[in-house]
Amino acid sequence: MSTRIQWTDETFNPWVGCQKISPGCLHCYAETMDNRFNGGAWGKDAPRRTLSESNWKRPIGWNRIAERTGQRMRVFCGSMCDVFDPAAPPGLLDRLFATIEQTPCLNWQLLTKRPELAPQIQYPSNVWLGVSAETATWWSKRVKVLQQAKASCKFISYEPALGPPPVSAWLYDNIDWVIVGGESGPEARPFHAEWALEAITKCQLYGINVFVKQLGANPHVSGHPIKLKARKGDEIDEWPKSLRVREFPGVTV
Ligand code: SF4
Repeated sequence: MSTRIQWTDETFNPWVGCQKISPGCLHCYAETMDNRFNGGAWGKDAPRRTLSESNWKRPIGWNRIAERTGQRMRVFCGSMCDVFDPAAPPGLLDRLFATIEQTPCLNWQLLTKRPELAPQIQYPSNVWLGVSAETATWWSKRVKVLQQAKASCKFISYEPALGPPPVSAWLYDNIDWVIVGGESGPEARPFHAEWALEAITKCQLYGINVFVKQLGANPHVSGHPIKLKARKGDEIDEWPKSLRVREFPGVTV
């Protein structure tokens, strides 16, 4: 495992770069990382950066391992980009889907803030398709589209959560998994533990698996900030017991 993201085993990027699109992007971690090493790949007209051939060989290697061990591996695709970015380098989305077809022992977790085209795509059965939803309003906008897509597993990344989760039951229909998390970083916006509890309760009510990833760098309980030792609030032992839920969807491929 070469990632610190607790809900996946590996990360893969078909290119690097993106453009901010909604409030969840304000402190985009990927842009900060990119600026540290290269920079210039964020913005509407900024050329996205292509990656080496050896990068494209990595999923083939993981697939061999998963085949040999009989243990499927989860791959989060797009930690440094958005897979449905309209400014993606030509041909690379097709190449990504060809790679997904070639690696049937991997569960590909494709996460986007731009699901508009998602319902028109045919997904291989090893794709888990997800949308980010930072507030109830964005949840409603993006989940409505996700619900129409024909992927075998659909999920919501409620991270960085910037407000309470939605109330309406239909916004949880046809969803297999919800990831919950507060924002990281020095300027993290507040995350209220009550939002996580509400999301857990809703998921349990509607039979959805839920994974609480972190309480973030600015956690609050009952309206007051709390101090946690872990910088990102990702040490599960520090949390109230009611929030310690880390489930995965029970899909079979
Ligand atoms: S969509 Fe994701 S990668 Fe793109 S700017 Fe927003 S947070 Fe960053």
